[in-house]
Amino acid sequence: MDTPSQAAAPVDLPPLLPQTERVMGQLIAAPALQAALAAVRRDDALTLADQIALSEIESPPFHEEKRAADFARRLRELGLTDVSIDAEGNVIGVRAGTGDGPRLVLAAHLDTVFAAGTDVKVRRDGDRYLGPGISDNARGLAVLLQILRALDEQRIATAGDLLFVGTVGEEGNGDLRGCKALFATDKAIDGFIAVDGVAVTRILANATGSRRYRVGYEGPGGHSYNAFGNPSATHALGRAIAAISEIQVPDEPRTTFTVGTVKGGTTVNSIAASAEMELDMRSDNGDELNRLEAGILPLLEAAAAAENRRWNAPADKQVKLVLTPIGDRPAGQQAPETPVLQAARAAQAALGIPLLKYSAASTDHNVPVSLGIPATTLGGGGAEGNNHTLREWYEPTQAWQGPQLTLLAALALVGMTGVSEPLLARRASRPTRPPQGV
Ligand SMILES: [Zn+2]
Repeated sequence: MDTPSQAAAPVDLPPLLPQTERVMGQLIAAPALQAALAAVRRDDALTLADQIALSEIESPPFHEEKRAADFARRLRELGLTDVSIDAEGNVIGVRAGTGDGPRLVLAAHLDTVFAAGTDVKVRRDGDRYLGPGISDNARGLAVLLQILRALDEQRIATAGDLLFVGTVGEEGNGDLRGCKALFATDKAIDGFIAVDGVAVTRILANATGSRRYRVGYEGPGGHSYNAFGNPSATHALGRAIAAISEIQVPDEPRTTFTVGTVKGGTTVNSIAASAEMELDMRSDNGDELNRLEAGILPLLEAAAAAENRRWNAPADKQVKLVLTPIGDRPAGQQAPETPVLQAARAAQAALGIPLLKYSAASTDHNVPVSLGIPATTLGGGGAEGNNHTLREWYEPTQAWQGPQLTLLAALALVGMTGVSEPLLARRASRPTRPPQGV
């Protein structure tokens, strides 16, 4: 997962809706539900063992196949018969509901940020487990398996379908490709919970969108003395950066930009023939992100034009802009009444977990949020640190709270047969039959 934004949590969330309170009360009073929560706690060490085993299967960006195959095998071992790997590489296991209920995805990403060949062996140091990817997101995958184990052991049936999904391409340049493919294929999904990060006290309500570009300038180059008068790619880049750095953005919705990297030129005594930068733009609001992009993109062309004008450069000796999109994560915001957010808060309250952070981030849930499909990301339980570094660690402190939280929220959403009605509605635009064998 990408780092959550620093935007302050809204202090005044309205109280939970009466139907949310009613459904959660019915669930908590059900003996089978209580038994499932107890089983999750009892199986804490088993969840951790799954987590370590999955973490030790490397899953580099764009090559998640080995971990995907293992995750699919584990879903089948836990009794799912409808398990497939789609064209993008996502693992999709369906636990069918008993009725006409909503279709809810429980997702965790399969990919890590670590290159092929990285040593992913997990080491133990006291209470701490060390290994690249041990928390982000082997924890999320293990939590999905534990939820499935507890549901089956207690023979809990649901009105709606539960889809257990391992997604590819959540991190960095993966650009949410797995989740984008999932929603492009399955138009019947009504709700979505990703398990990512560990904090059970945090609910991600909004999706920080981002657009990223590689911005290149190409020109004639030349000797710094002999060819003086040729326009310069680095000078054009500098003009662009100076203009970008003056852009004004709102504090709310939080909107940001930066030129993250620059490179260009070859030697001190050459007019640079090429130069490039990587540009990152973000906002919690899609319109604001569009406005920012519409403000910045013309500056890039204008910088080349200004550099050419400065030197009166003829057509065959001009600096030109080469713009390459390298990232597009859609943004979106959700009202506090959104069923997935209601279910998550109610589950926290029922488990005695305080809500300490209600914020936005950039993760798989961006895709459904941007489509208007209720979604959130919940923590997998325990403690973590040094994510996205080789010194990543995980501590299973009250780790069972993670699978308990998502299990309870999910049951509130899809309805536990004989106990509660689904909080999640089937979408009006939803096709009557979900796709078969995606
Ligand atoms: Zn992650």
